[in-house]
Formats: sequence, C-alpha cells, structure tokens
Amino acid sequence: MFGKEYMIAALEAISQNIIEHEEDLNHLDNAIGDGDHGTNMARFSRIILKDLPELLATQDDLGEILHHVGMRCISEVGGSAGPLFGTFFLQAGMVCKGKTSIEAADLVTAFETGTMGVAQLGKAYEGDKTMLDAMFPAGRVMQEAAAAGKSFAEILNAGAEAAQNGVEYTKTIQANRGRASYLGTRSIGHQDPGATTIMLLLQSMYKVAVEKNAE
Ligand code: ADP
Ligand code: MG
Repeated sequence: MFGKEYMIAALEAISQNIIEHEEDLNHLDNAIGDGDHGTNMARFSRIILKDLPELLATQDDLGEILHHVGMRCISEVGGSAGPLFGTFFLQAGMVCKGKTSIEAADLVTAFETGTMGVAQLGKAYEGDKTMLDAMFPAGRVMQEAAAAGKSFAEILNAGAEAAQNGVEYTKTIQANRGRASYLGTRSIGHQDPGATTIMLLLQSMYKVAVEKNAE
C-alpha cells in the first residue's frame, strides 16, 4: 500500500536527487537550451522540501498532496518545465483524489495520466526529444509490471530502467519541441534534460520503494 508517509518520502527523495543533480541538468540544458533546467527544477525541489513537513502533518489525501505540488510548480517555477511538470503532478493528483492510500496499479495510472497531461499541454509525443521520451516507455513497462502483480519496487525498477533507456534514446534524435528544436539537426547527439529529470524521479521512487520494503 502506498500511503501518505510513502508519498512524502518519495517526494523528499525526488527533490533531494534533483538538487544533487542541479549542475548536471543545467549542463545538459546548456548544450541544447538556455542552461536553466537544473536551476528551475532545484528551485521547485527546495520549495517542496520546505512544504513537506506541513503536508505530512495536515494532509491525508494523496490527491491533495500532489495537487499542492503541482500548483507550487506552476506558480513558482520558470521556463516551460514549470507548467509541464506542474501539469504532470496535477493530473496525477486527479487519479488519487479522495484516497489516503493507493495500490500499485493506481500509482501507474497516476503516472500515465500525468504523462498524457504533459503531452497535451506541450503538444508533443514520443520521439520529439522531450521528457515524454522517458515518460511514455516508463509508463508502458510499469503498466505491464503492475498487471503481472509485481511489487512497487519491481514496478518502479522497471520504470526507472525504461526511463534510462528513453534518456539514451533522446541522444539519437532531433528535437521537435521546446528550445532545443531551434537547433534542428544540431540537437542530435545531446541528451534531453527533462527526460533526465524523469529518470531521476523514477530512480528516487524505486529507492524509496526498496527502503519501505525493508522496513
Ligand atoms: P525552458 O526550455 O523553458 O528553458 P527547462 O529548461 O526548465 O525550460 O526545461 C526544458 C525541458 O522541458 C526539455 O528538456 C524538455 O524535456 C521539456 N520540454 C520542453 N518543451 C516541451 C514540450 N513541448 N513538451 C514536453 N516537454 C517539453
Ligand atoms: Mg531551459
């Protein structure tokens, strides 16, 4: 079961992981964008880390927790990543609305619903060299793993691996969306920063799932 403590621990781990990779993410964005992706996401992560204790103390509804995170992202984070990641959390939150705990299948549905929200807002799909190149394949393998009755840790491990492969794939393709698309074919050979953030997110969730299993 994935409840409030689990979700807060996951959000904490994700935020810390992003902050640790702030410079790497800026570096990636420097090559094909404006070099601020790490700064944008670390700013968001620091705000979330500050908000988490109060959320843990006052909010049991998983949907409301994700809604809060999404609203913070949209209102506080600059660049295109703010609204896009914010929409991801808001849409994922809709799936969890009114629930104090969820099953693995719901978690995957929340991830996929968030992914669809990003695709709709960004008018992008797989192969456009965006965060979606990590999100869609991760959602697919997690769906399969959940349908096969795998544990949270197994599901998230599969998702993190698929996201990592998606990140590798972004190096091979040309950007069709976002700032990187201004480079045309010169964007080929570079790794997408947003996809990298999704990989970090899933890797952190996997780590927390392993820790929770061990408890
Ligand atoms: P900005 O591009 O405004 O500087 P960031 O640097 O924070 O914002 O985020 C860049 C990332 O956002 C890209 O690496 C890509 O993954 C993602 N992105 C950009 N445009 C889109 C889009 N239309 N749809 C989905 N993701 C996008
Ligand atoms: Mg940028």
